[in-house]
Amino acid sequence: MIRTCQLSYTYPGGPTLAFPDVEVAQGTVLLLSGPSGCGKSTWLSLAAALVAPTAGELVVADQSLGALKNIAADAWRARAIGFLPQKLHLSAALTVQQNLALAFWASGQPEDAARIDAALQALGVQHLARRTPAQLSGGQAQRVALARAVLLQPRVILADEPTASLDFEAAADAVRLLLDTARIQGATLVIATHDARVAALIPAKVDGQIGFQPLQLVRKQL
Ligand code: ADP
Ligand code: MG
Repeated sequence: MIRTCQLSYTYPGGPTLAFPDVEVAQGTVLLLSGPSGCGKSTWLSLAAALVAPTAGELVVADQSLGALKNIAADAWRARAIGFLPQKLHLSAALTVQQNLALAFWASGQPEDAARIDAALQALGVQHLARRTPAQLSGGQAQRVALARAVLLQPRVILADEPTASLDFEAAADAVRLLLDTARIQGATLVIATHDARVAALIPAKVDGQIGFQPLQLVRKQL
């Protein structure tokens, strides 16, 4: 579940971004859309407790984020949030398997090789476990990054521009992978995108439920 109330963020010496209120039920999809520069990535940073709100309230996965401070935020994020950033941030010096192991270290849990295997298998990239990121195609790297993001079964998955620079077929694939992964894990999924194709790639109804909830941001800076 995600709930925001009068949420805003001011970059030091930069713009103030004010966000419309939203409430997203657990296990559903939020499509965060709007033009480049409207604040989508900033909203994701707030939801992941990477930055603290300047004003307003934000509750993500039962945690009120205004109250979280540094170390607590890091521990909470490692457990509760699966972040698929636009730039994937796979460690170049590590293998795919070791990149996933990092998620265990970051959350203070012992490494579990069987769970790493299962996560890679679920995304069809188990055979790439011993490669380094430089030896992956773009699509393979995204699957690996998604496997790492959801390894610890986070309550919330945040994806930033997951279809950027992908052709239609690859974009459809990326969206389907995110939807399937979120559904299997019962996670709330937020897709931030300026790609108008994405809305059309999400089924209008899933199991009788509305396919996604839209949150349209506008480029309005104070
Ligand atoms: P989007 O992801 O929708 O393209 P962002 O959240 O990246 O938008 O940026 C929203 C606004 O905040 C833009 O005007 C951008 O220039 C500004 N901004 C983003 N990051 C910073 C920063 N580190 N310092 C100052 N301004 C920033
Ligand atoms: Mg962005």
